[in-house]
Amino acid sequence: MSEIAGGPPTGDGSASPSFETVGYDVSGRVAHVVMNRPEKRNAQNTHMTYELDAALDLAARNRDVRVVILAGAGPHFSAGHDLTDPHRYEEPSTGVTQWADWELEGAEGRLSREHEIYFEMCRRWREFPKPLIAKVHGRCIGGGLMLAWVCDLIVASADAVFQDPVVSYGMPGVEWLAHPWELGPRKAKELLWTAGTWSAQEALSCGMVNHVVGRDELDAFTVSLAERIAMQQTMAVKLVKQAVNQAMDNQGYWTAMCNAFHLHQLAHAHNSLRYDSPLDPTNLPARLRVAAGRAIEEP
Ligand code: ZN
Repeated sequence: MSEIAGGPPTGDGSASPSFETVGYDVSGRVAHVVMNRPEKRNAQNTHMTYELDAALDLAARNRDVRVVILAGAGPHFSAGHDLTDPHRYEEPSTGVTQWADWELEGAEGRLSREHEIYFEMCRRWREFPKPLIAKVHGRCIGGGLMLAWVCDLIVASADAVFQDPVVSYGMPGVEWLAHPWELGPRKAKELLWTAGTWSAQEALSCGMVNHVVGRDELDAFTVSLAERIAMQQTMAVKLVKQAVNQAMDNQGYWTAMCNAFHLHQLAHAHNSLRYDSPLDPTNLPARLRVAAGRAIEEP
């Protein structure tokens, strides 16, 4: 499998797409979407968000693809959102929603941007019509959790470490607050309040991941799981996904997610009033204190 976009033709006979931050490859009935900014520990900038969406679009429209594996190139799955992205308030010409005007003042521009690229994007990927499997190794931090959690299954290597550190920066968790569902309410509160890390084994014990395997087994194990699912009838697989997601929604998952997203925006607005920065800068590394502000300079 080629992990870098622009490689050999994909399995459907079409040319590989030319993504800059994401690898895309189809092998048999399985598509591999790989975050490919290892020098940034796969921190997710706006560009990568849209390339991930475009790669999933390709996988959705390829009838040969039955299952998608989402992974990260290099030593880590994802360091989270890229707070140093100088282009983060530049809108693409066409978004996936109509939440535009990211430059509006007050809380309005940020609300639009985060609605478009974090909140609605997570919702869209959670509802991707084929099974998504996250293959997590190394660190999976902050916004990286959002990417793993919107996948249907998670396979982690034994060395995987998870963390949402943003309470240290004055935020009640990342934009997609699935923590209570993924960790259970008590662990969710503890791990958020302490900005604590949890291991792959702890993630397994609270039901957040499906399997923990050795790092050297991770690729083969995940592909074998994907191929097993790919043998099933596609209609039944789709309906299982809908039924389980809708069961969660009936338990309040979607309503809780909407509520938490707006509390997240309240915290950004509070920090902006109090510190003139959407994040409390007290514990932020110096290089991120500048980047976290709206008026970031071009490098
Ligand atoms: Zn935010």
